Amino acid sequence: MIDLKSLTLLELQQEMEKLGEKKFRAKQIYGWIHEKLADRFEEMTNLSKDLRERLEQEYELPVLKIIQVQKSAQDGTCKFLFGLPDGHVIESVLMRYHHGNSVCISSQVGCRMGCRFCASTLGGLKRGLRPSEMLDQIYQIQKWSKERVHNVVVMGTGEPLDNYDALLRFLNLLTCEGGLHISQRNVTVSTCGIVPRMRQLAEEKLQITLALSLHASSQEKRKMLMPVANRYELSDVLDACRYYFEQTKRRISFEYSLVGGVNDGEEDAEELIALIRSLNCHVNLIPVNPIKERDYVQSGHQTIVNFKNKLEKSGIVVTIRREMGRDIDGACGQLRRSYLDMEKER
Ligand code: SAH
Repeated sequence: MIDLKSLTLLELQQEMEKLGEKKFRAKQIYGWIHEKLADRFEEMTNLSKDLRERLEQEYELPVLKIIQVQKSAQDGTCKFLFGLPDGHVIESVLMRYHHGNSVCISSQVGCRMGCRFCASTLGGLKRGLRPSEMLDQIYQIQKWSKERVHNVVVMGTGEPLDNYDALLRFLNLLTCEGGLHISQRNVTVSTCGIVPRMRQLAEEKLQITLALSLHASSQEKRKMLMPVANRYELSDVLDACRYYFEQTKRRISFEYSLVGGVNDGEEDAEELIALIRSLNCHVNLIPVNPIKERDYVQSGHQTIVNFKNKLEKSGIVVTIRREMGRDIDGACGQLRRSYLDMEKER
């Protein structure tokens, strides 16, 4: 069955034509799905009962079910555990900032990239999410919170560029008129560095921000933390970042998770400066969030501050990621994992 929530307006028009319906019906249905965030055909009250029944029989409208919401007492961050129509579970996060609400979504069920410090990858990849399933994380959170979502970051479980076609369709539906119409500039896609896909994304010439998970300043160290580095040389990854900037004029955002005693030394900072100083970029330092399956530890506070100062002194723009919702299984994939562990024990 065709998933109507993953279709563009044009494609929806073609479907309506096939059903012998007028073109304007497509616009109505599109508005119900992407603007009014309807979960069921039944709600689409300006369509005839006949048409609603036909849609019900012939099409899918995937809806995510909220299984659990964990709310941080510290900062109002909420973690959502969603059930997919086929029984898999994924997680998303709502972060409330003074400049608006941000939602961090998953792009896959699990992940096959294998980054050593990440909980999302421990059970491997189950499948990529459909565009509708990426969208619905945002739709359900907006409905639940009754507050508008301003920013979307594709930084939850999964590697978005490993689910490229679905990602692009999702970006199109999220940012075009007639839906939530979120500005491309308010969308960030984070990748572990799949070089050919980064180049392809650059050529789409979107205005979204590309975040690159760097995490190390040498090829050797990067390989230790991120198996994807066995496939792509660090120099090629940085060339792809440069290319992204050339094509889109969007500043690259580098993510650097500081892991105690592994990549947080003075020499690491110096090497990092030499590596990226010629790039138009911003560095986001993330104190690693330890997961129980690995023995990585967080860098000490002073080490983090020293690292930041060193970068800043050389003119690089740096922020330290605020650790939102630490009290609620904050790190990537931890809520989903603890849920799956619990299910196993039952
Ligand atoms: N696959 C994409 C997006 C998902 S992860 C990517 O690799 O970018 C989002 C970010 O969180 C990445 O930079 C990732 O390396 C980082 N991350 C994952 N687990 C972490 C942890 N336990 N502590 C700190 N950062 C982590």
